[in-house]
Amino acid sequence: MRATIANYEMLSFNDRIAVAVSGGKDSVSLLHILAKMERTRSKASFTAFTIDEGIKGYRDEALEIAAAECSKLGVDHHVFSFEKLFGFTLDNLIKRKRQNRDCKLTACAYCGILRRRAFNVAAREVGAEKIATAHTLDDEAQTILMNIFRGDLARLAKEKPMTDEVHPKLVRKIKPFCEIPEKESALYAYLKKVKFQAVPCPYASEALRNDFRFMLNRMEEKHPGTMFTVFNSLERLRPALNEIDENRHFAECAGCGEPSSGGLCKVCELLQQVR
Ligand code: SF4
Repeated sequence: MRATIANYEMLSFNDRIAVAVSGGKDSVSLLHILAKMERTRSKASFTAFTIDEGIKGYRDEALEIAAAECSKLGVDHHVFSFEKLFGFTLDNLIKRKRQNRDCKLTACAYCGILRRRAFNVAAREVGAEKIATAHTLDDEAQTILMNIFRGDLARLAKEKPMTDEVHPKLVRKIKPFCEIPEKESALYAYLKKVKFQAVPCPYASEALRNDFRFMLNRMEEKHPGTMFTVFNSLERLRPALNEIDENRHFAECAGCGEPSSGGLCKVCELLQQVR
């Protein structure tokens, strides 16, 4: 992980980092490792936040675990809920969309739109200038293939181990685990006896990502190194992708004032439909 951080120049000596802790094995392992590393940087500040999407019977345990692990490490922990930020829990939003027979996307797609915004708002509120997320090599390889299958070159170009500084209101994201297989982050959690939530989200089975996870896991089993190859191939294409990304235009949403590429941001569009 140190090599990944160094190669992509993810950290500097006076960073203000906020780690997004969901309570799952990857994010809790990342929290432990970064907390240890940041202790050696006297000018850096380190905090953590958890997004409560409002998923009944799922998020409560994760919130307890995230809070307990942060307190064990002496890291400030903040919780931001969809309900407070957007006026809806994810459960309510999905229920309304399904009642109106207007649920064109999976729950994870709606969750993703709101969560990206919540991450950014949370990071700004806690005064962070970088958000560390626990996306593993597995997540990255899945995302790359999903974007290729969708033919979404703009998203392919946008997803990076460390996002660029493109708008003053958009906090940069770093992914220190992007070259770490999920199995290794799980191993770290087990060996260090780190507590994490093992129960999956009730909406997870609907996610398109599952099909890619299944396919990649089978490929990895038969042809070890497949996920690294997918990740590295994209990084070799990075100079060409950067040219696509350079044309990305940012303005501010007419509804909420958050960074947006169109007139209304996706969050405002979604909330308008639900209301
Ligand atoms: Fe959100 Fe889907 Fe993750 Fe559940 S599995 S927390 S709905 S993105």
